[in-house]
Amino acid sequence: MTEASRQVGGAAAPVAFVSHGAPSLVLEHSDPTHAFLSGFGRTLGAPRAILCVSAHWDTPTPALTMAVDPATIHDFHGFPPALYALRYPAPGAPWLALRARELLAAAGIDAHLDTRRGLDHGAWAPLYLMFPEAAVPVVQLSVQSGATGAHHLGVGRALAPLAAEGVLVLGSGGATHPLGEALRADPAQPLPGWVREFDGWLERAVTAGDFASLADWPHAPQAPRNHPTPEHFLPLLVAAGAAGDAGRVAHRGASWGLLSMAAFRWGAAGG
Ligand code: ZN
Repeated sequence: MTEASRQVGGAAAPVAFVSHGAPSLVLEHSDPTHAFLSGFGRTLGAPRAILCVSAHWDTPTPALTMAVDPATIHDFHGFPPALYALRYPAPGAPWLALRARELLAAAGIDAHLDTRRGLDHGAWAPLYLMFPEAAVPVVQLSVQSGATGAHHLGVGRALAPLAAEGVLVLGSGGATHPLGEALRADPAQPLPGWVREFDGWLERAVTAGDFASLADWPHAPQAPRNHPTPEHFLPLLVAAGAAGDAGRVAHRGASWGLLSMAAFRWGAAGG
């Protein structure tokens, strides 16, 4: 089958968002979110490629990885040595980087192509569980922590045609991410009210397709405390924008006592 016929004959891809938690989640086999991610990839069909929006790549304007063989970046400190030995050798997809830049340009959004950058743990850690064969090509897209919710929804909206081209748009961040407080919290505690309040707002906004509320997310209940910095929330907005519709909850979980591990999916195929 030729590349062109795969594109024409292939199924549309869904859109998804996952909370990736700590990088060590990939080693924590008893964690329910580890189990969820290990099965989630199979429910997302057989994408031709993955465009992963990572919370851990923050640039002033959108950037896309262009490397043919992106390296695995171990962009974290103080975790078990086994984590630093892991590699996620998925190929890159320069054709997808070019296509995404073209779609963004058509929406008046300039994007930069980065030929050197590899995959950070926001991308490779969940993909290591979701697509363990590392056979599906991956391109990473950055977030802009200085830009608005509307900007990130707009980036997603510009990329919406990718789903029909068989490309899985995957946001990887955190439904809640009060990292400073989480480092001091009791990891066994249930998510407290101020976390559940934001998490509940998020579920309602996503499942209702309430894009006005999502765009105005800094004013959501308890938003500043759950996201003292915005970068872990922004991949969700790109995913929601790419889907352009109401989504549904794919997973609920908790980590480190304060991190909601919620995942969402939109559109085509199973699950
Ligand atoms: Zn993270």
